[in-house]
Amino acid sequence: MAKKPLLEFTDKGIYCAQGGFYIDPWKPVDNAVITHAHADHAYIGNKHYLAHELSREVLFYRLGPINLQTVAYGEKVMKNGVQISLHPAGHVIGSAQIRVEYQGEVWVVSGDYKVEDDGISTPFEPVPCHHFISECTFGMPVYQWKPQASVFNDINNWWRTNQQQNVATVLVGYSLGKAQRILQNLDLSIGKVYTHGVIENTNEALRRNGIILNPTERITPESSKDEVRKGIILAPPSSVGTPWMRRFLPYSFGYCSGWMAIRGAKRRRAADRGFVLSDHADWDGLISAIDATGCESVYLTHGYTATFARYLNEIGFDAHEVHTLYGADEEAADQPAAEAEQAVANDVEGSGS
Ligand SMILES: [Zn+2]
Ligand SMILES: [Zn+2]
Repeated sequence: MAKKPLLEFTDKGIYCAQGGFYIDPWKPVDNAVITHAHADHAYIGNKHYLAHELSREVLFYRLGPINLQTVAYGEKVMKNGVQISLHPAGHVIGSAQIRVEYQGEVWVVSGDYKVEDDGISTPFEPVPCHHFISECTFGMPVYQWKPQASVFNDINNWWRTNQQQNVATVLVGYSLGKAQRILQNLDLSIGKVYTHGVIENTNEALRRNGIILNPTERITPESSKDEVRKGIILAPPSSVGTPWMRRFLPYSFGYCSGWMAIRGAKRRRAADRGFVLSDHADWDGLISAIDATGCESVYLTHGYTATFARYLNEIGFDAHEVHTLYGADEEAADQPAAEAEQAVANDVEGSGS
């Protein structure tokens, strides 16, 4: 009989039978190992959680009082002879790749990742393995990111121009990851940073976790419109078009997302400016990351899995598509071709095997 693989894809998530745990399960289990705190990876209802220590306060903020064990990057945890360790994924603060080893066989689950150092998340590190389970949210050649310094140069210039024209600056990005990346890379000699409550709550959780963020001011009903207009307003996607946002009119509204790389995305979001800034790896980043693991086989969990698997097979990898429920974090879920993503989700529900 063929040996069972160390990690399997089940209807609850990625499962290690030998160790008795799941990685990022989407249905309640006894033992969950969590790559990061985005909603499509960290679900409520598990009996025990293992995650990186910098995810602690955000997990409590998002999931409430859970039974959580945290570890540093590289720290080893044993479960029934299986060695588990977490390694930087560079996606958001506290995000981790999960390395699983048993009897000399090594698997790595990437979670979400990007390869560029964003100045706030611990930078991605390739982890050598036999089998690599990777995301590929942006696994199409059209997705090629510019260095973030150049993107922030554009953002700072846009802010300065708005300020000169006495127009408020509203910059939209998701609340865990993107907002803090923006905050840490803005030119604060231009003005102050004001935040929507959802973003400020996340900032507070991260500060409780010991992370030093640049100063921010939460917007309240008492905030002075004239003062706020001189600064920059960080807002989550859910605030677009709401009365909360309209009270800052006249404003210029910018949107930060990897999807802004495609023509039409800015218009669909009704944004004045689209900034191509993603917390996922671009096409080259995915290929370089996969190559750097030296793996024998690759399993693609979410994104353009079919296209990307075909390409990897063409260039000599042993690549497979697998069906998971990942890909609904705030950035990935925002994709223009949402119907394609929906087809994948339906397929998962309907597969039954
Ligand atoms: Zn994510
Ligand atoms: Zn995700």
